Amino acid sequence: MARTRLVAGNWKMHGSRSANRALLDAILNGMPKSDAQCAVCPPFPYLGDVAERLRGTPIAWGAQNVSEHAQGAYTGEVSAAMLAEFGCRYVIVGHSERRSLYGETDAQVAAKFSAAQAAGLAPILCVGETLAEREAGRTEQVVARQLEAVLSKSKFAGAVLAYEPVWAIGTGRNATPEQAQAVHAFLRGKLNADVSILYGGSVKAQNAAAIFAMPDVGGGLIGGASLVAEDFLAILRAAGSER
Ligand code: PEP
Repeated sequence: MARTRLVAGNWKMHGSRSANRALLDAILNGMPKSDAQCAVCPPFPYLGDVAERLRGTPIAWGAQNVSEHAQGAYTGEVSAAMLAEFGCRYVIVGHSERRSLYGETDAQVAAKFSAAQAAGLAPILCVGETLAEREAGRTEQVVARQLEAVLSKSKFAGAVLAYEPVWAIGTGRNATPEQAQAVHAFLRGKLNADVSILYGGSVKAQNAAAIFAMPDVGGGLIGGASLVAEDFLAILRAAGSER
C-alpha cells in the first residue's frame, strides 16, 4: 500500500535564532515538489520563531517532549495544550534519549502519548532496542513492550510510530534496509495499515532512498542530518514519490 512519506527533523538541543532562520530559509528555498511531508522539531524556546517562519509553508513543526500532566506545579514542564495553542502539530514521545538519560518509563511515555492526543497533537512515538537487546535476540520483545504500553491506554489513530534502534542513533551506523523492514513489518502487524512507521537512526543522504524503499517504512525521523539543509533536502527528495 503506497503511503505518503513523512520526514521529521529532530533538532535535539541544537540551534540559535539566527542558525534556525538560516536553516529554515535554505530548506524552504530547496523544498522539492513532491508528495513527501516534512516537519521539524526544534527546542522549546524556538518554537514561536519557527511557527512564525513556517506559517503558510508546507513544513509542519513539532516539539521534542511534552508533560504527561495537563497543568499544575510541575516546574520546567510544558503541557500539550500549551503546544497546541501555538499551532504545534507533532510531538516526539519516548525518544531513547528521554528514556535513557531522563529515566522515562513505558508508563510515563504512554501518559505523555495520551496527553498529546487529548490536546489534538499527533504524537511521534519512538521505540527501539539497545545493541545488547538486539544481540540477545530481544528486539521484537522490546519494541512490542514499548508499543503495547501505549496501546493499552490509547488508540493509535492520528499518531506516528518511529522505529529507532538505539544503537543506530547518532552513531553513524544505520540499520540495513532489511533490518529496518523486518522490525517495521513486525510493528505493522500490531497496528492499523494506515499508520506511518518512520525509521530513525543515522539516516543520511546516502542511505535514505534504500531505507525508504522498504514497503513498511513510511519515512524517517532524522537527527544529525536534519541540521544541515543540503542533507535534509536530499533525504526529503529520497522520500518523495518522484525520486
Ligand atoms: C534521532 O535522534 O531521533 C536520530 C535518529 O538521530 P540521528 O539521525 O542523528 O541518528
